[in-house]
Amino acid sequence: MPEPLRSYVAGEWRAGTATLEDVNPARPSEVVAEVQAADAAVAEEAITAARAAFPAWRDTPAPARGEILRRAADLLEARAEEVGRDLAREEGKTLAEAIGETRRAVAILRYYAGQTLEPDGETYPSASRSTFLYARREPVGVVLAITPWNFPIAIPAWKLAPALAYGNCVVWKPAELVPLTAVHFTRAFADAGLPAGVLGVVLGRSSDVGATLLAGPVEAVTFTGSNEVGRRLQLEAIARGAKVQLELGGKNPAVVLADADLDLAAEQVARGAFLSAGQKCTATSRVIVERAVLEPLAERLVEHARGWRLGDPLDPRTVVGPLASAAQLERVAGYLDGARRDGGTALAGGGPAAIDGGYYMQPTVLAGLGPESAVVREEVFGPVAALLPADSYADAVDAANDTPFGLSAAVFTRDLGRALRFAKDVRAGVVKVNQESAGLELHVPFGGTKASSSGSREQGKAAREFFTEWKTVYVD
Ligand code: NAD
Repeated sequence: MPEPLRSYVAGEWRAGTATLEDVNPARPSEVVAEVQAADAAVAEEAITAARAAFPAWRDTPAPARGEILRRAADLLEARAEEVGRDLAREEGKTLAEAIGETRRAVAILRYYAGQTLEPDGETYPSASRSTFLYARREPVGVVLAITPWNFPIAIPAWKLAPALAYGNCVVWKPAELVPLTAVHFTRAFADAGLPAGVLGVVLGRSSDVGATLLAGPVEAVTFTGSNEVGRRLQLEAIARGAKVQLELGGKNPAVVLADADLDLAAEQVARGAFLSAGQKCTATSRVIVERAVLEPLAERLVEHARGWRLGDPLDPRTVVGPLASAAQLERVAGYLDGARRDGGTALAGGGPAAIDGGYYMQPTVLAGLGPESAVVREEVFGPVAALLPADSYADAVDAANDTPFGLSAAVFTRDLGRALRFAKDVRAGVVKVNQESAGLELHVPFGGTKASSSGSREQGKAAREFFTEWKTVYVD
């Protein structure tokens, strides 16, 4: 058992008041780490330290900030196997997924290190002969970053790396389920020489530290998580005048048209629905299929669902690990009970799997449900795909858009014209043609429409919009 995990405030690891257990969802009797949880006083200190560190960090030349990010990337890369293993042990995704996610965080750090060498403003012609007119991007100040457990290092990386690269200080509250990954990520910054206070990390229960963090003097709040929590925090932050960015839930459709390559479609839908046990905001959960190919598509999808090996995330043969917590298992099982009550049938899976007492859910394919069933309308966040028949292209698009969410959408077709029309017709922030709805590249904008997001986009150069603000200068 490693040393108890602690918060990181003003460049020091801080003891906490309560002790929490970080358990392995594949074998809940195994305690991965103990956490000395922060209280409100530690949360307040983290903000105070960030405020104190801000002027010097803002004035540090951007390329020097980039150098620190680059060093953090190198350290994290050297530790990727160890970090990935711990991530898999506390979150439940497979070792390959966890190491891949850690390497993604490395790439994100390098990308934003590179951005510190890019132009930070532009010059304009002035109406006056003697005026030199320019505008440049400056950091917003102290940013509060609140992150979920499902991508415990990639999501923090795509918030922290741009925030720091552009000269902000950050107070980060990781999700309670994944404190060990958070400590690994923090260590990479600390060991890379990030000055004290520039990054504060508060490991604690949201019920103990959330209100203090939200009430604190921060200029911006970037949040990824559930709609319920995000909306509440948005109201509090806006009331205090802070800038807010939310990345929330999804209910992502995959539309399979009659001319699609069905082998490809079934494989990509299965990946989108079942990898990471379906716990991705961009996971495929509604499979809208033209009637002519409903049966052959369903057969292929069921074959994938039944054939994918469920098991310990550290076993290299495992394709799908457990859900992240007992609460997640209960939630997903509840949706499946509801589906049965609504007259649905499980063509594959349909309930938990008994393996080592872990929180396993079988990859599940549902059929026979109407658009009003909760499992079709609400975000399930588990390995569950609901098949919905469509009578035509227009019917399929209507079904795809029949949701309050608008994060990601996929279409499978060999007709390029149809594919491009779908990309225009569907209301989603990300559209994939002949690819699963999940899976993102790091240098392009990411975010959703409708209830899936609020505020400007994350990732790539788009992140600059949130983490900086314009200053316009007239020089005579
Ligand atoms: P959650 O909303 O329960 O928690 C998210 C974070 O908010 C956690 O760190 C949690 O501790 C914190 N939090 C909760 N209450 C708080 C409070 N009162 N004050 C301050 N902080 C508080 O979400 P989750 O269960 O961790 O993650 C799953 C959700 O995240 C899903 O809905 C999923 O769709 C969403 N998600 C969205 C994206 C995206 O980019 N759109 C990406 C990944 C996950």
